[in-house]
Amino acid sequence: MSNVTVCARFRPRSSRELRDHRDGVCVRGIDAGTFVFQDDKEDELTFSLDGVFYEDSPQAAVYEFLALPIMRDAVNAINGTIITYGQTGAGKTYSMEGPGIQDCDDHNKGLLPRVVDGMFGQISSSKDIANYTVKLSMVEIYMEKVRDLLDLSKGNIQIKETKTQGILLSGVTEVPVSDSAEALQHLCTGLANRAVGETQMNMSSSRSHCVYLFTIQQDSVKDKRVKTGKLILLDLAGSEKADKTGAEGRVLEEAKTINKSLSALGNVINALTSGSSSKVNHIPYRDSKLTRILQDALGGNSRMALLCCCSPSTSNASETLSTLRFGMRAK
Ligand code: ADP
Ligand code: MG
Repeated sequence: MSNVTVCARFRPRSSRELRDHRDGVCVRGIDAGTFVFQDDKEDELTFSLDGVFYEDSPQAAVYEFLALPIMRDAVNAINGTIITYGQTGAGKTYSMEGPGIQDCDDHNKGLLPRVVDGMFGQISSSKDIANYTVKLSMVEIYMEKVRDLLDLSKGNIQIKETKTQGILLSGVTEVPVSDSAEALQHLCTGLANRAVGETQMNMSSSRSHCVYLFTIQQDSVKDKRVKTGKLILLDLAGSEKADKTGAEGRVLEEAKTINKSLSALGNVINALTSGSSSKVNHIPYRDSKLTRILQDALGGNSRMALLCCCSPSTSNASETLSTLRFGMRAK
């Protein structure tokens, strides 16, 4: 897979980080893709990625650089995935959603509502070429179980592979959406359901992966050709290591499961980016629900963008370093 974009995004310092006078900033920008990072041993490491965004980088800049090209291709039937990765509190959900999905000011709007707007904008300007049908599904992966966020009454969703349609979430709700407002409405329902589930199961959303899946089908007006693009946005569970001393019982189980699925994701991306196209190398999709769901949106002729979300503070340097290492492995 040659079409991989890896970026880092450093959020502004939180009020807690700003209050602590021993806490400093561990990142210094060099150019558009290069920065110097000071690790927890105060060694300076230089990182070069496709792009780097700092605290004053607007949401629109992240969207245009990282998500817009993938959205555009997905409308043209090339599968794509946009992923936010990082420790809890690093800015994954802010980047993905913004402060809210609906009624958010233009400046703070996240990738998801921007992708939705862009997608329907492009669809309406391609009306003379094809008729489009867009469907939305939304699932959450928690402890290797897949929950339908558009219908909480459904049990664990099974993942199937078919010859004609590729990877399928068996029986998952697929709502047809015909414009931005409708899509945002359903996304809000899904997020509200996610919050309900969190309370019911007494868990935190930072412990589950949230998958937004758009299936974009185009029926050519000239001939009978039907093409489909899958566009997946993925807000991952926090990548932080479990507190070695404190974690036990369910917290430890959660941490182990997240760790396993994130390393499976890393392994799949690594296998895809390091394998030469002539060699059929084994891609370990089956190692987790997460990689299984992403299988046909990651392999083959598809595109991926990875946003490594980071705290800029020295107090988080060791987690930030492991986030940046994950990003480097994807290159
Ligand atoms: P995560 O989803 O990775 O756990 P959040 O997206 O919830 O983290 O971010 C944690 C906090 O930091 C939130 O209050 C969020 O609004 C704020 N934040 C994160 N990134 C930014 C940013 N780029 N600009 C402004 N605030 C941000
Ligand atoms: Mg979050």
